[in-house]
Amino acid sequence: MTVTAMQAQTKSGLIRWDGRKVQCPSGVVVKTKTFASVQFVAKEIRAGYETFVPHLTELGLTVEDVEELAGSSDPATKQLMTRDRERVRCSRCGRVLWDGESIAAGMGPECRGRAR
Ligand SMILES: [Zn+2]
Repeated sequence: MTVTAMQAQTKSGLIRWDGRKVQCPSGVVVKTKTFASVQFVAKEIRAGYETFVPHLTELGLTVEDVEELAGSSDPATKQLMTRDRERVRCSRCGRVLWDGESIAAGMGPECRGRAR
């Protein structure tokens, strides 16, 4: 069995995701593929561009939340905060990997020949 804990507790609330969608603390759902872009929004806000604030507010997130997520050592959270084309993928089938064991191995459980 593969245990995937694809969720993170931020100060603003819980974020949960799967390979397709991210449910944000506000309840808004966005694509997992592009979620990492919130870091660029957070950087712009840090640089003083407050016009970007509503982009995070809509998701129920703060700059601090985004920075905390980006600094996480949890493998699945690291994947979430990495641009899709730079995410660790299965070396055999190319799927983005989400559990720590698979990420460490660079291959998903099925491709390693294990039962789910
Ligand atoms: Zn695979």
